[in-house]
Amino acid sequence: MISIAARSLIQSNLLDIFIAAEGYLEQRRNITYKKVSHAAIELTYGCNSSCPDCYIPKNLRTNHVMDESLLRRVIDQFRLNDIKSIGLLGGEPLMDTTVPTISRVAGDNPFTPFAIITNGRYIAENGIHKLEHMHNITYNVSIDGFSETNDLFRGNGSFDNVQQSFRVLRAKRKVYGSVTTLRKENLAEATSKEFLDMLCKRGVQIAGFLKMKTISESMISAEEFEEANRRMQPLISQYPMIIVFGGNGKGYSETKDYCYRSLYVNPKGDVRLSKVDLGENLGNLAEQDLEHILKKIKTPSC
Ligand code: SF4
Repeated sequence: MISIAARSLIQSNLLDIFIAAEGYLEQRRNITYKKVSHAAIELTYGCNSSCPDCYIPKNLRTNHVMDESLLRRVIDQFRLNDIKSIGLLGGEPLMDTTVPTISRVAGDNPFTPFAIITNGRYIAENGIHKLEHMHNITYNVSIDGFSETNDLFRGNGSFDNVQQSFRVLRAKRKVYGSVTTLRKENLAEATSKEFLDMLCKRGVQIAGFLKMKTISESMISAEEFEEANRRMQPLISQYPMIIVFGGNGKGYSETKDYCYRSLYVNPKGDVRLSKVDLGENLGNLAEQDLEHILKKIKTPSC
């Protein structure tokens, strides 16, 4: 059995990887990646929730899950192309249909860090039994405000699910964070001291705030985003948690200086650069090698 000291060491190393993966170093050191350094796998477009402004259109939210052999091939292709940071997204990546696959694949790739972005519902209802002993998985739970605001965007009961998922992750001593999408309606609340206090009390280690490219009218402008960023700066050093504002990967926050740092692979293996433009298709990893697909990406000027 792994000792507590060894486990802490592994988890602190994982924290470094997690931080790098989520753009913290990029933000702090003003690093701009000129090549793809991070990739996100959309395991399924199915979801156990139904948020009104989900970027995945309703007609695509099927229960199809990426074939396990394709998932393994995608991870191998990332490794071969020096992509060390892998996000597992959905739809919802944690469901009965996906967790056994994640467990097997993460178990067989113990030195590959996987950052799961989840709505927290599966964890709240089931715990993380099948994933409990995986030390290469970190968790990012979406939360967009306090109860009323969050549930407005993510469905009734979702705030309570997030809170319960934080309790589970804390009790299991996992590396975990929060991801907050800033919108016109939650901007003041989600960037308030009270909200940060709550995240901190829940043991969140990395709190990410991001702006999504337009998926609905409630998305904020780049100027509003920068203004909120400036306003929050004095608060950031007051918390024993890492607060990542807008640095949650330029692939997540598509700003004008988006530098192709991240790519996305959908459940069929199609590759794209934009998170929200699901029609973009640079190639398919079931049929082509990633090296070939990456050659199509022009080096950005930023
Ligand atoms: S939890 Fe995520 S994937 Fe599911 S409906 Fe909401 S935004 Fe879409």
